[in-house]
Amino acid sequence: MQRASSRSGGKRIVKRLEPLGEKLRRRLSGRRAFVFLDFDGTLAPIVSMPHRARANERVMRAITALAALPRARVAVMSGRPLSFVRQRFLARGLFHVGNHGLEMRGPGVTFRHKGAAVIRPTFQALAEKAKATLAGFPGVLIENKGLTMSVHFRRLPPSFRRRFNRSLAAFRLGTAALPIRWRRGKKVWEALPRVDWNKGRALTELLRRTGPAVPVAVGDDVTDEDMFKAVGRKGVSIRIGKSGSSRAMDYLPRQKDVPRFLTLLTEVLK
Ligand SMILES: [Mg+2]
Repeated sequence: MQRASSRSGGKRIVKRLEPLGEKLRRRLSGRRAFVFLDFDGTLAPIVSMPHRARANERVMRAITALAALPRARVAVMSGRPLSFVRQRFLARGLFHVGNHGLEMRGPGVTFRHKGAAVIRPTFQALAEKAKATLAGFPGVLIENKGLTMSVHFRRLPPSFRRRFNRSLAAFRLGTAALPIRWRRGKKVWEALPRVDWNKGRALTELLRRTGPAVPVAVGDDVTDEDMFKAVGRKGVSIRIGKSGSSRAMDYLPRQKDVPRFLTLLTEVLK
């Protein structure tokens, strides 16, 4: 049974990739592409321990092959710290983007958002306070990422959920005077500097700095919607998982389909 269902899943994705391949061929014909790939939930499956997230061998090989093409530039766009993204992806020529675009490195690009950098000490203090306030909740993980902070609650037992929501709401209220804003993602709350910057602005900045290319963006979460918006009708935007409210023009059913998509893109750009 298991095998039969996974085989039909395979057929379904091939069917989906055919029209997508056609679209990519039309859009990218004779042109250069800049491929922007989210990390958690896109290149790597979501796991309960955030530090264990990893892209599998197929994804790593596909990225290396793609980044080696003269017609392709590739950026890994993550909410994780830049150092984390750089450690995970070593392919030559790759662009690394951390903290939702607040820090970026790549061939000819070194960027750290100035407005965000000055409030770095704020996050240090905020993370300590959050740890003290939320210490009683099992499975809650506070991650100080330098320029942002995450409160992960993926492993919080459901029976604690209500009390946690109340405590966190009160904590967030207590930070109203700080130059930060809060955003909810998949089983995570994030505190970000109150600056007009996001993955979409980062995408536009990378395009501006590296010359003409058709943007291709792939992501799975709310922060990726900023990328999809920035791509607009100029390129191709793809969401992992179908969603009626997404700005993405296309979707892949599952994270598992990503290596197939990357291979297709490599074929198109060869
Ligand atoms: Mg994601």
